[in-house]
Amino acid sequence: MEPFTFSRAADPAEAIRAGTAASTAQQGAEVRFVAGGTTLIDLMKLDVETPRRVVDINHLPLAKVERTSDGGLKIGALVRNSDLANNAEVKRDYAVLSQALLSGASSQLRNMATTGGNLLQRTRCVYFRDTATACNKREPGSGCSAIHGFNRNLAVLGTSDHCIASNPSDMNVALTALEATIVIRGAHGERNVPIGDFFLLPGNTPDRETVMEPGDLITHVLLPPPHRGARSHYLKLRDRASYEFALASAAVVLASEGGAIRHARVALGGVGTRPWRSPEAEAALLGRPAERATFAAAADAALRSAKPCSQNGFKIELAKRCLASALSTAAA
Ligand SMILES: Cc1cc2nc3c(=O)[nH]c(=O)nc-3n(C[C@H](O)[C@H](O)[C@H](O)COP(=O)(O)OP(=O)(O)OC[C@H]3O[C@@H](n4cnc5c(N)ncnc54)[C@H](O)[C@@H]3O)c2cc1C
Ligand code: SF4
Repeated sequence: MEPFTFSRAADPAEAIRAGTAASTAQQGAEVRFVAGGTTLIDLMKLDVETPRRVVDINHLPLAKVERTSDGGLKIGALVRNSDLANNAEVKRDYAVLSQALLSGASSQLRNMATTGGNLLQRTRCVYFRDTATACNKREPGSGCSAIHGFNRNLAVLGTSDHCIASNPSDMNVALTALEATIVIRGAHGERNVPIGDFFLLPGNTPDRETVMEPGDLITHVLLPPPHRGARSHYLKLRDRASYEFALASAAVVLASEGGAIRHARVALGGVGTRPWRSPEAEAALLGRPAERATFAAAADAALRSAKPCSQNGFKIELAKRCLASALSTAAA
């Protein structure tokens, strides 16, 4: 691990001031905030992240889950994954989020991991974590070892010739289906970013993963009020039953009336370079009866633009079945 200085931020403004000293908020940042540390410290041990300064934000007053005046939810960036998953209102009104969180990592990790840190966790592409190999995300312009290498766990949607890394988070998939908004405080004040605009496609700058700028601090995540009569579900498929990332996952929110689907939100995990909202699947569901043929058509639509590499073609069928099954469960 490279030498670095460590400090503790007492209020958000102090954290933002410290963070703004960095020339970039992305890979290679000189200043990093640390929350649960379950991503950052691992990557520092591997010399993948080499900040000169680490700012502990754990003392900031951002660890509450509160109702908003419109009936939505305001989740502090420092709310631990286990607290969020077990929050009574989350379990009742946003079941898909609770299920997604509980499917991730292990209970020990969930006790440490935070909402803000989970949003910003990095890919599990093996080359990203191995400084002896070429990786455009870690070292822009060095090449991508995965495209013709070990790519079994990587993305089939939203890829580019420069990077095919999948976004590994379960929580992010549920937040995408729930149309969350990320509240960010930075050097120029506060802004609200819809989750659909928060994550960037890799294109030819895979090192830039989100719209975060130097010094930006995620303070909250906002959820809109739950859709009346909707049911939601998260299904995760992986190589083993726990402590494993998704090969494919699906987060769905569904409401039917008069024998037809009137509200549908669909997001996929494990298969996209970012948490993958599927407007194609949603369009294939709306106005149709909640039955097997409809779900299969939606799953086909969701994966129509998928581009497999040498080892991950199986994910296309897996993701289709995953989505169709999640939709059946939500509709049952
Ligand atoms: C063995 C293992 C298994 C795992 N399995 C899964 C899994 O199955 N599913 C899954 O979804 N995840 C899994 N994870 C990932 C885990 O969920 C993340 O590591 C965790 O959510 C990150 O949260 P953290 O608070 O520890 O982040 P940290 O490590 O503290 O921070 C991560 C990044 O976010 C930045 N950051 C943190 N908070 C803020 C903020 N408020 N504002 C701005 N920047 C911020 C940090 O600077 C850092 O760059 C696993 C991790 C491990 C180690
Ligand atoms: S897929 Fe992305 S993260 Fe993996 S080696 Fe290629 S550039 Fe790096």
